[in-house]
Amino acid sequence: MNKTKDIIDIVIVGGGPIGLACGLEAQKATLNFIILEKGCLVNSLYNYPVNMTFFSTSERLEIGGVPFVSNNVKPTRPESLEYYRRVSAGYNLPLRLFEEVIEIKQHDGHFEVISNKGIHLTKNIIIATGFYGIPYLLNVEGEHLPKVTHYYKDPHFYAYQKVLVVGAMNSAVDAALETWRKGAAVTMVIRREQIGERVKYWVRPDIENRIKEGSIKAYYNSHVLSIREHDVDIQTPEGTVTIQNDWVIALTGYQPDLNFLRNAGVELSADAVMKPYFNTDTHETNVKNIYVAGVICGGMDTHSLFIENSRGHAEQIIRSIISKAMLLN
Ligand code: FAD
Repeated sequence: MNKTKDIIDIVIVGGGPIGLACGLEAQKATLNFIILEKGCLVNSLYNYPVNMTFFSTSERLEIGGVPFVSNNVKPTRPESLEYYRRVSAGYNLPLRLFEEVIEIKQHDGHFEVISNKGIHLTKNIIIATGFYGIPYLLNVEGEHLPKVTHYYKDPHFYAYQKVLVVGAMNSAVDAALETWRKGAAVTMVIRREQIGERVKYWVRPDIENRIKEGSIKAYYNSHVLSIREHDVDIQTPEGTVTIQNDWVIALTGYQPDLNFLRNAGVELSADAVMKPYFNTDTHETNVKNIYVAGVICGGMDTHSLFIENSRGHAEQIIRSIISKAMLLN
């Protein structure tokens, strides 16, 4: 393991859009920092469906004031990957990709950030770890089979196959419609009595009409009981139904790694949201010099913060770090 000798100003944990935004602000302030990312650059966006179009217009996804020009008003996933890559290249951001932070240790006046590749000493830490890393599992027999995925990528793969889509939020609805349009025989298993309330208003009629006309079969108030190689059992209000099946796409949401925050000493609210404690002006947590940025600030409420309304955290945090450093000098 490498142990860097110097104590740097900031370690940013997470190379998503908001971690990068923090990096840009730190760069502008000529601070000494690194960004540690456990996967590839903007790993969460990379893992989104390949055909995904953002609901935000491109200028609302901009970071560091760098213009984001897309072919249409709302950019696609590849355009966003290229934008964030160009921004990080243009600013020569010190990225350490495929380096996962395992533990944060506090010492007198600095932190030790322990990753799978080494140890970094730093005065400040910004945690921008997002929420896309841990899928909610179905916790049923057969979930470990290779035919089951919790990350939907591309519809072509499922052409002429029997596909079960679990869930009824945006990602599940998109997967059901896209795979059906590529010739898959699609069944949806939906826990509640209707398609999710937050499904994009321009997509909702499409899925509701496909279900109504019988093109896509939907079991409401239902859940998956077990998955086998060639079929699945579904618990429906009318009893257990067994259907033939080739692939299961389980899109039941993702959760932030709150244990990572807890282990760093960050307090979480006692309610179900488990929101990390932080000062809303500075984003500093109860642990002095540990900051939170981006969607992780919402705790289990992963729908209140997006790129467009959390990119401003970067300026707040760097302003706080600089003003504290100025007080010390
Ligand atoms: P993330 O982008 O999740 O980045 C966190 C990063 O931290 C990840 O790359 C992860 O690999 C890394 N990481 C985690 N743990 C560690 C660790 N221990 N060590 C090192 N690295 C770690 N938002 C919008 O504003 N507009 C949209 O149109 C929009 N469309 C969306 C469409 C879909 C299908 C989805 C799923 C989300 C969409 N969002 C949109 C939400 C948006 O993508 C997130 O809000 C955004 O990614 C949050 O940025 P972030 O940097 O906080 O977190």
